[in-house]
Order: sequence, then C-alpha cells, then structure tokens
Amino acid sequence: MNTMTCQQLGGPCGLEHHGASADEVIKSQDRHLNEAVSGGDSAHEAALNDMKGLWKRPVAGIGLYRQVKRDFASLPED
Ligand SMILES: [Zn+2]
Repeated sequence: MNTMTCQQLGGPCGLEHHGASADEVIKSQDRHLNEAVSGGDSAHEAALNDMKGLWKRPVAGIGLYRQVKRDFASLPED
C-alpha cells in the first residue's frame, strides 16, 4: 500500500490517497478532484482539468510510462 497526497498528484491540498498501485491512487485523486470541484472548490479546478487531459491523451501517458521504465532499467543493478 502506497500513499500519495493530492499535492503530489498536482492538486492543491494535502489529502492522502492510499492504493496498491499508481492506478488506484490516480483513480482516487480523480474522484477527490471531482468531488471538490462539484462542491464549489475552485482551487481544485486546474488539477481536475489536468487530470481530464491525462485521460484524453493516453499516448502521452504511455510515453511517460515508457520513460519511467527506461530510467528504471538504466539504474545500476545491486
Ligand atoms: Zn485535494
């Protein structure tokens, strides 16, 4: 179980998300942003728009994933 805050995911507050995978944490943040903005919190609007952009650009998401894998592979082995 990993923890990432709203801030680490591009949001404005320190709410913690817990998840077994990055996917779960991202979905939790997506839900949190939607709830905050529909509750009238304009501070979360920019992050919500970024998140919507992520879903609209799966190719960019895959590129990022490949980049992380490549960086990981270039680390010296223990
Ligand atoms: Zn937040």
